[in-house]
Amino acid sequence: MKIAVLKELADGERRVSATPETVRKYIGLGATVAVEAGAGVSASVSDADYQAAGATTGPRADVLRDADIILGVQGPPPQSLSGAKQGAWLVAGLNPFGERARVDAYAARGLEALAMEFMPRITRAQSMDILSSQSNLSGYKAVLDAAAEYGRAFPMMMTAAGTISAAKLFVMGVGVAGLQAIATARRLGAQVSATDVRSATKEQILSLGAKPIFVENVAGIEGEGSGGYATEMSEEYQMAQAELVSGHIARQDIVITTALIPGRPAPRLITDAQVATMKPGSVIVDLAVEQGGNVEGAVAGEVVERHGVKIVGHRNVPSRLAADASALFARNLFNFLSGFWDKEGGLPQVDDEIGDAIRLTKGGQVVNARLLG
Ligand code: NAD
Repeated sequence: MKIAVLKELADGERRVSATPETVRKYIGLGATVAVEAGAGVSASVSDADYQAAGATTGPRADVLRDADIILGVQGPPPQSLSGAKQGAWLVAGLNPFGERARVDAYAARGLEALAMEFMPRITRAQSMDILSSQSNLSGYKAVLDAAAEYGRAFPMMMTAAGTISAAKLFVMGVGVAGLQAIATARRLGAQVSATDVRSATKEQILSLGAKPIFVENVAGIEGEGSGGYATEMSEEYQMAQAELVSGHIARQDIVITTALIPGRPAPRLITDAQVATMKPGSVIVDLAVEQGGNVEGAVAGEVVERHGVKIVGHRNVPSRLAADASALFARNLFNFLSGFWDKEGGLPQVDDEIGDAIRLTKGGQVVNARLLG
Protein backbone atom coordinates (compact mmCIF):
# COMPACT_ATOMS: atom_id res chain seq x y z
CA MET A 1 0.00 0.00 0.00
CA LYS A 2 1.65 3.22 -1.15
CA ILE A 3 0.42 6.50 0.33
CA ALA A 4 1.23 9.76 -1.47
CA VAL A 5 1.27 13.07 0.39
CA LEU A 6 0.88 16.08 -1.90
CA LYS A 7 2.22 19.58 -1.54
CA GLU A 8 -0.77 21.92 -1.47
CA LEU A 9 -1.15 24.13 -4.54
CA ALA A 10 -4.00 26.42 -3.43
CA ASP A 11 -3.07 30.04 -2.77
CA GLY A 12 -2.36 30.71 0.89
CA GLU A 13 -2.71 27.06 1.92
CA ARG A 14 0.02 26.35 4.47
CA ARG A 15 -1.21 23.06 5.88
CA VAL A 16 -0.09 19.55 4.99
CA SER A 17 -2.08 16.31 5.15
CA ALA A 18 0.47 14.09 6.90
CA THR A 19 3.01 14.76 9.63
CA PRO A 20 6.06 12.73 10.66
CA GLU A 21 3.84 11.28 13.42
CA THR A 22 1.23 9.95 10.99
CA VAL A 23 3.90 8.84 8.50
CA ARG A 24 5.38 6.63 11.22
CA LYS A 25 1.94 5.25 12.00
CA TYR A 26 1.16 4.43 8.35
CA ILE A 27 4.50 2.67 8.06
CA GLY A 28 3.66 0.81 11.26
CA LEU A 29 0.58 -0.52 9.46
CA GLY A 30 2.77 -1.81 6.63
CA ALA A 31 2.35 1.06 4.13
CA THR A 32 5.05 2.97 2.30
CA VAL A 33 4.76 6.75 2.28
CA ALA A 34 6.04 9.18 -0.37
CA VAL A 35 5.90 12.90 0.39
CA GLU A 36 6.19 15.58 -2.27
CA ALA A 37 9.31 17.68 -1.72
CA GLY A 38 8.57 20.76 0.37
CA ALA A 39 5.04 19.61 1.27
CA GLY A 40 5.46 20.41 4.96
CA VAL A 41 7.68 23.47 4.87
CA SER A 42 4.98 26.05 5.59
CA ALA A 43 3.69 23.90 8.46
CA SER A 44 7.19 23.75 10.00
CA VAL A 45 7.96 20.20 8.79
CA SER A 46 11.07 19.70 6.66
CA ASP A 47 11.72 16.97 4.11
CA ALA A 48 14.40 15.66 6.48
CA ASP A 49 11.74 15.27 9.21
CA TYR A 50 9.63 13.13 6.86
CA GLN A 51 12.66 11.09 5.83
CA ALA A 52 13.56 10.52 9.47
CA ALA A 53 10.03 9.18 9.96
CA GLY A 54 10.60 6.68 7.15
CA ALA A 55 9.04 8.41 4.13
CA THR A 56 10.68 9.06 0.79
CA THR A 57 10.49 12.60 -0.55
CA GLY A 58 10.66 13.71 -4.16
CA PRO A 59 8.91 15.33 -7.09
CA ARG A 60 5.16 15.01 -7.55
CA ALA A 61 5.40 12.58 -10.47
CA ASP A 62 7.44 10.11 -8.39
CA VAL A 63 5.16 10.52 -5.40
CA LEU A 64 2.02 9.86 -7.45
CA ARG A 65 3.41 6.91 -9.44
CA ASP A 66 1.72 3.69 -8.28
CA ALA A 67 0.18 5.42 -5.26
CA ASP A 68 -2.90 3.62 -3.91
CA ILE A 69 -4.01 6.48 -1.66
CA ILE A 70 -3.34 10.17 -2.35
CA LEU A 71 -3.68 12.54 0.60
CA GLY A 72 -4.31 16.27 0.45
CA VAL A 73 -5.67 19.07 2.60
CA GLN A 74 -7.64 20.65 -0.25
CA GLY A 75 -8.61 18.99 -3.51
CA PRO A 76 -5.72 19.24 -5.98
CA PRO A 77 -6.33 20.60 -9.49
CA PRO A 78 -7.19 17.47 -11.54
CA GLN A 79 -4.51 18.20 -14.13
CA SER A 80 -1.89 18.08 -11.36
CA LEU A 81 -2.75 14.39 -10.83
CA SER A 82 -1.55 13.07 -14.16
CA GLY A 83 0.22 9.78 -13.66
CA ALA A 84 -2.06 8.74 -10.77
CA LYS A 85 -3.29 5.21 -11.30
CA GLN A 86 -6.89 4.25 -12.04
CA GLY A 87 -8.86 3.41 -8.92
CA ALA A 88 -6.48 5.26 -6.60
CA TRP A 89 -8.14 7.02 -3.69
CA LEU A 90 -7.97 10.77 -3.31
CA VAL A 91 -8.65 11.64 0.33
CA ALA A 92 -8.87 15.35 1.23
CA GLY A 93 -11.21 18.21 2.01
CA LEU A 94 -12.62 18.38 -1.52
CA ASN A 95 -15.18 21.20 -1.15
CA PRO A 96 -17.67 19.15 -3.22
CA PHE A 97 -20.33 21.86 -3.63
CA GLY A 98 -17.85 24.64 -4.35
CA GLU A 99 -15.60 22.63 -6.65
CA ARG A 100 -18.15 20.50 -8.48
CA ALA A 101 -16.24 20.65 -11.82
CA ARG A 102 -13.20 19.17 -10.11
CA VAL A 103 -15.26 16.32 -8.75
CA ASP A 104 -16.38 15.49 -12.30
CA ALA A 105 -12.76 15.63 -13.44
CA TYR A 106 -11.64 13.27 -10.65
CA ALA A 107 -14.32 10.84 -11.85
CA ALA A 108 -13.15 11.19 -15.46
CA ARG A 109 -9.62 10.33 -14.34
CA GLY A 110 -10.87 7.13 -12.72
CA LEU A 111 -10.02 8.28 -9.19
CA GLU A 112 -12.12 7.40 -6.16
CA ALA A 113 -12.53 10.77 -4.47
CA LEU A 114 -13.39 10.77 -0.75
CA ALA A 115 -14.48 14.10 0.74
CA MET A 116 -13.52 14.23 4.40
CA GLU A 117 -15.86 17.14 5.13
CA PHE A 118 -18.81 14.85 4.36
CA MET A 119 -17.87 12.60 7.30
CA PRO A 120 -21.13 11.80 9.13
CA ARG A 121 -21.53 13.30 12.58
CA ILE A 122 -21.68 10.07 14.48
CA THR A 123 -19.80 9.28 17.64
CA ARG A 124 -17.42 6.75 16.11
CA ALA A 125 -16.39 9.19 13.36
CA GLN A 126 -15.62 12.09 15.69
CA SER A 127 -11.87 11.45 15.54
CA MET A 128 -12.05 11.58 11.71
CA ASP A 129 -13.93 14.88 11.51
CA ILE A 130 -11.82 17.55 9.80
CA LEU A 131 -14.57 20.18 10.16
CA SER A 132 -14.43 19.93 13.95
CA SER A 133 -10.66 19.83 14.26
CA GLN A 134 -10.17 22.80 11.96
CA SER A 135 -13.14 24.87 13.24
CA ASN A 136 -11.85 24.58 16.77
CA LEU A 137 -8.60 26.25 15.74
CA SER A 138 -10.48 28.85 13.67
CA GLY A 139 -12.53 29.86 16.70
CA TYR A 140 -9.38 30.31 18.74
CA LYS A 141 -7.55 32.24 16.02
CA ALA A 142 -10.56 34.50 15.34
CA VAL A 143 -10.31 35.84 18.89
CA LEU A 144 -6.57 36.44 18.55
CA ASP A 145 -7.13 38.17 15.20
CA ALA A 146 -9.78 40.37 16.81
CA ALA A 147 -7.45 41.18 19.71
CA ALA A 148 -4.69 42.13 17.27
CA GLU A 149 -6.97 44.55 15.39
CA TYR A 150 -8.56 46.01 18.52
CA GLY A 151 -6.75 49.03 19.87
CA ARG A 152 -7.58 48.19 23.46
CA ALA A 153 -7.02 45.47 26.04
CA PHE A 154 -9.49 42.62 26.65
CA PRO A 155 -9.47 42.20 30.44
CA MET A 156 -10.57 44.66 33.04
CA MET A 157 -7.42 46.19 34.52
CA MET A 158 -7.35 48.10 37.77
CA THR A 159 -4.13 50.06 37.82
CA ALA A 160 -2.69 52.97 39.73
CA ALA A 161 -3.40 55.09 36.66
CA GLY A 162 -7.04 54.07 36.66
CA THR A 163 -9.32 51.29 35.51
CA ILE A 164 -9.72 49.88 32.02
CA SER A 165 -13.05 48.15 31.51
CA ALA A 166 -13.30 44.66 30.00
CA ALA A 167 -13.97 44.32 26.28
CA LYS A 168 -17.49 43.18 25.42
CA LEU A 169 -17.36 40.32 22.92
CA PHE A 170 -20.36 38.69 21.22
CA VAL A 171 -20.18 35.34 19.42
CA MET A 172 -22.84 34.58 16.79
CA GLY A 173 -23.05 30.88 15.93
CA VAL A 174 -22.04 28.51 18.72
CA GLY A 175 -20.85 25.40 16.93
CA VAL A 176 -17.34 24.09 17.30
CA ALA A 177 -15.66 27.38 16.28
CA GLY A 178 -18.02 29.52 18.35
CA LEU A 179 -17.52 27.47 21.51
CA GLN A 180 -13.75 27.77 21.19
CA ALA A 181 -14.09 31.49 20.51
CA ILE A 182 -16.10 31.89 23.73
CA ALA A 183 -13.55 29.90 25.73
CA THR A 184 -10.60 31.82 24.28
CA ALA A 185 -12.21 35.23 24.80
CA ARG A 186 -13.04 34.32 28.40
CA ARG A 187 -9.43 33.28 29.00
CA LEU A 188 -8.33 36.68 27.71
CA GLY A 189 -10.68 38.38 30.14
CA ALA A 190 -13.44 39.65 27.84
CA GLN A 191 -17.07 39.90 28.92
CA VAL A 192 -18.64 37.36 26.57
CA SER A 193 -22.17 36.79 25.25
CA ALA A 194 -23.31 34.45 22.48
CA THR A 195 -26.27 33.43 20.35
CA ASP A 196 -27.30 30.55 18.08
CA VAL A 197 -30.48 29.25 16.47
CA ARG A 198 -30.05 25.87 18.14
CA SER A 199 -31.46 26.16 21.65
CA ALA A 200 -29.26 23.26 22.79
CA THR A 201 -26.33 25.67 22.73
CA LYS A 202 -27.76 27.81 25.55
CA GLU A 203 -26.49 25.44 28.21
CA GLN A 204 -23.09 25.20 26.53
CA ILE A 205 -22.79 29.00 26.51
CA LEU A 206 -23.67 29.16 30.20
CA SER A 207 -21.23 26.38 31.06
CA LEU A 208 -18.41 28.43 29.54
CA GLY A 209 -19.33 31.39 31.72
CA ALA A 210 -20.83 33.49 28.92
CA LYS A 211 -24.28 35.07 28.61
CA PRO A 212 -26.79 33.55 26.16
CA ILE A 213 -28.71 35.99 23.96
CA PHE A 214 -31.69 34.14 22.48
CA VAL A 215 -34.91 34.78 20.59
CA GLU A 216 -37.47 33.55 23.12
CA ASN A 217 -40.72 34.87 21.69
CA VAL A 218 -41.01 32.86 18.45
CA ALA A 219 -42.56 29.52 19.28
CA GLY A 220 -41.79 26.10 17.90
CA ILE A 221 -38.39 26.72 16.42
CA GLU A 222 -35.67 24.41 17.52
CA GLY A 223 -33.23 25.36 14.75
CA GLU A 224 -31.57 22.00 14.70
CA GLY A 225 -31.51 19.98 11.48
CA SER A 226 -29.94 16.61 10.77
CA GLY A 227 -26.54 15.71 12.21
CA GLY A 228 -26.62 18.57 14.71
CA TYR A 229 -26.41 21.18 11.94
CA ALA A 230 -28.59 24.27 11.69
CA THR A 231 -31.43 24.69 9.21
CA GLU A 232 -32.57 27.92 7.59
CA MET A 233 -34.90 29.82 9.89
CA SER A 234 -38.38 31.20 9.18
CA GLU A 235 -38.78 34.83 8.20
CA GLU A 236 -40.53 35.52 11.50
CA TYR A 237 -37.56 34.12 13.41
CA GLN A 238 -35.05 36.04 11.32
CA MET A 239 -36.87 39.31 12.04
CA ALA A 240 -37.03 38.63 15.77
CA GLN A 241 -33.34 37.70 15.74
CA ALA A 242 -32.38 40.86 13.83
CA GLU A 243 -34.23 43.04 16.35
CA LEU A 244 -32.68 41.35 19.35
CA VAL A 245 -29.22 41.39 17.88
CA SER A 246 -29.45 45.03 16.77
CA GLY A 247 -29.83 46.31 20.30
CA HIS A 248 -27.07 44.05 21.57
CA ILE A 249 -24.49 44.65 18.83
CA ALA A 250 -24.49 48.41 19.37
CA ARG A 251 -23.05 47.80 22.86
CA GLN A 252 -20.31 45.38 21.75
CA ASP A 253 -16.61 46.04 21.15
CA ILE A 254 -15.97 42.79 19.26
CA VAL A 255 -18.32 40.50 17.34
CA ILE A 256 -17.25 37.11 16.01
CA THR A 257 -19.60 35.41 13.55
CA THR A 258 -19.35 31.72 12.68
CA ALA A 259 -22.85 30.82 11.40
CA LEU A 260 -23.04 28.24 8.63
CA ILE A 261 -25.77 26.13 7.07
CA PRO A 262 -24.38 23.10 5.20
CA GLY A 263 -24.78 23.31 1.43
CA ARG A 264 -26.29 26.82 1.58
CA PRO A 265 -24.81 30.31 1.60
CA ALA A 266 -23.98 31.56 5.09
CA PRO A 267 -26.93 33.37 6.74
CA ARG A 268 -26.62 37.17 6.79
CA LEU A 269 -26.57 38.14 10.47
CA ILE A 270 -25.26 41.71 10.49
CA THR A 271 -26.29 44.45 8.07
CA ASP A 272 -24.31 47.54 7.20
CA ALA A 273 -26.80 49.61 9.20
CA GLN A 274 -26.06 47.47 12.27
CA VAL A 275 -22.31 47.88 11.73
CA ALA A 276 -22.91 51.65 11.76
CA THR A 277 -24.40 51.42 15.29
CA MET A 278 -21.15 50.05 16.72
CA LYS A 279 -18.56 52.32 18.34
CA PRO A 280 -15.62 53.39 16.17
CA GLY A 281 -12.65 51.12 16.88
CA SER A 282 -14.86 48.05 17.27
CA VAL A 283 -13.92 44.87 15.43
CA ILE A 284 -15.98 42.21 13.66
CA VAL A 285 -14.45 38.89 12.57
CA ASP A 286 -16.51 37.04 9.95
CA LEU A 287 -15.42 33.39 9.94
CA ALA A 288 -18.09 32.60 7.34
CA VAL A 289 -16.70 35.10 4.83
CA GLU A 290 -15.70 32.42 2.32
CA GLN A 291 -19.20 30.90 2.36
CA GLY A 292 -20.81 34.24 1.47
CA GLY A 293 -20.32 36.01 4.78
CA ASN A 294 -22.46 36.64 7.87
CA VAL A 295 -21.60 40.33 7.77
CA GLU A 296 -22.55 42.81 5.07
CA GLY A 297 -19.41 44.47 3.74
CA ALA A 298 -17.00 41.68 4.77
CA VAL A 299 -14.49 40.91 2.03
CA ALA A 300 -12.75 37.54 1.81
CA GLY A 301 -9.02 37.90 2.32
CA GLU A 302 -9.21 41.48 3.59
CA VAL A 303 -9.59 43.63 6.67
CA VAL A 304 -11.93 46.45 5.66
CA GLU A 305 -13.19 49.44 7.61
CA ARG A 306 -16.88 50.46 7.58
CA HIS A 307 -18.19 53.30 9.74
CA GLY A 308 -14.96 53.18 11.77
CA VAL A 309 -15.44 49.44 12.47
CA LYS A 310 -12.86 46.94 11.25
CA ILE A 311 -14.36 43.90 9.53
CA VAL A 312 -11.87 41.04 9.42
CA GLY A 313 -12.38 38.51 6.64
CA HIS A 314 -9.32 36.28 6.61
CA ARG A 315 -9.52 33.30 4.29
CA ASN A 316 -8.62 29.82 5.42
CA VAL A 317 -8.21 30.66 9.08
CA PRO A 318 -6.98 27.17 10.15
CA SER A 319 -4.06 27.59 7.75
CA ARG A 320 -3.00 30.60 9.86
CA LEU A 321 -2.13 28.03 12.55
CA ALA A 322 -0.58 25.70 10.01
CA ALA A 323 1.45 23.45 12.32
CA ASP A 324 -1.35 22.61 14.76
CA ALA A 325 -4.00 22.52 12.04
CA SER A 326 -1.87 20.06 10.06
CA ALA A 327 -1.21 17.88 13.09
CA LEU A 328 -4.95 17.52 13.75
CA PHE A 329 -5.92 17.20 10.08
CA ALA A 330 -3.28 14.51 9.55
CA ARG A 331 -4.59 12.60 12.58
CA ASN A 332 -8.15 12.82 11.24
CA LEU A 333 -6.99 11.22 7.99
CA PHE A 334 -4.98 8.57 9.82
CA ASN A 335 -7.87 7.74 12.16
CA PHE A 336 -10.12 7.27 9.14
CA LEU A 337 -7.76 5.10 7.08
CA SER A 338 -6.43 3.05 9.98
CA GLY A 339 -9.95 2.49 11.29
CA PHE A 340 -10.75 0.51 8.16
CA TRP A 341 -7.27 -0.81 7.39
CA ASP A 342 -7.14 -4.03 5.36
CA LYS A 343 -4.53 -6.36 6.84
CA GLU A 344 -4.29 -8.20 3.51
CA GLY A 345 -2.80 -5.10 1.90
CA GLY A 346 -5.84 -3.97 -0.11
CA LEU A 347 -7.53 -0.58 0.07
CA PRO A 348 -9.27 0.11 3.40
CA GLN A 349 -12.67 -1.55 3.81
CA VAL A 350 -14.88 1.40 4.66
CA ASP A 351 -18.35 0.50 5.91
CA ASP A 352 -21.42 1.76 4.06
CA GLU A 353 -22.52 4.37 6.59
CA ILE A 354 -19.25 6.27 6.28
CA GLY A 355 -18.34 5.20 2.73
CA ASP A 356 -21.66 6.28 1.22
CA ALA A 357 -21.44 9.63 2.98
CA ILE A 358 -17.94 10.60 1.87
CA ARG A 359 -17.42 8.78 -1.47
CA LEU A 360 -17.92 11.25 -4.32
CA THR A 361 -16.71 9.26 -7.32
CA LYS A 362 -16.19 5.63 -8.22
CA GLY A 363 -15.72 3.72 -11.51
CA GLY A 364 -15.63 6.94 -13.53
CA GLN A 365 -18.96 8.23 -12.13
CA VAL A 366 -20.10 10.76 -9.54
CA VAL A 367 -21.91 8.56 -7.00
CA ASN A 368 -22.61 10.78 -3.98
CA ALA A 369 -26.28 11.27 -3.14
CA ARG A 370 -25.75 14.85 -1.90
CA LEU A 371 -24.23 15.81 -5.24
CA LEU A 372 -26.72 13.90 -7.35
CA GLY A 373 -29.85 14.83 -5.36
P1 NAD B 1 -21.53 24.86 11.64
O1 NAD B 1 -20.10 25.20 11.36
O2 NAD B 1 -22.30 24.19 10.57
O3 NAD B 1 -22.31 26.22 12.04
C1 NAD B 1 -21.84 27.05 13.08
C2 NAD B 1 -22.95 27.43 14.01
O4 NAD B 1 -23.77 28.43 13.38
C3 NAD B 1 -23.91 26.29 14.39
O5 NAD B 1 -23.94 26.17 15.79
C4 NAD B 1 -25.25 26.75 13.82
O6 NAD B 1 -26.34 26.32 14.62
C5 NAD B 1 -25.10 28.25 13.85
N1 NAD B 1 -26.05 29.00 13.01
C6 NAD B 1 -26.55 28.70 11.78
N2 NAD B 1 -27.42 29.64 11.37
C7 NAD B 1 -27.45 30.61 12.34
C8 NAD B 1 -28.15 31.84 12.51
N3 NAD B 1 -28.98 32.29 11.58
N4 NAD B 1 -27.94 32.55 13.65
C9 NAD B 1 -27.08 32.10 14.60
N5 NAD B 1 -26.39 30.94 14.50
C10 NAD B 1 -26.58 30.21 13.39
O7 NAD B 1 -21.66 24.01 12.98
P2 NAD B 1 -20.59 23.09 13.66
O8 NAD B 1 -19.56 23.87 14.34
O9 NAD B 1 -20.11 22.14 12.65
O10 NAD B 1 -21.42 22.33 14.80
C11 NAD B 1 -22.80 22.03 14.75
C12 NAD B 1 -23.14 20.99 15.84
O11 NAD B 1 -22.66 19.70 15.47
C13 NAD B 1 -22.52 21.28 17.19
O12 NAD B 1 -23.49 21.01 18.16
C14 NAD B 1 -21.41 20.31 17.31
O13 NAD B 1 -21.11 19.97 18.65
C15 NAD B 1 -21.98 19.13 16.57
N6 NAD B 1 -20.93 18.22 16.08
C16 NAD B 1 -21.05 16.87 16.27
C17 NAD B 1 -20.04 16.01 15.80
C18 NAD B 1 -20.12 14.53 15.99
O14 NAD B 1 -20.96 14.06 16.73
N7 NAD B 1 -19.28 13.74 15.32
C19 NAD B 1 -18.95 16.54 15.12
C20 NAD B 1 -18.88 17.91 14.94
C21 NAD B 1 -19.87 18.75 15.42
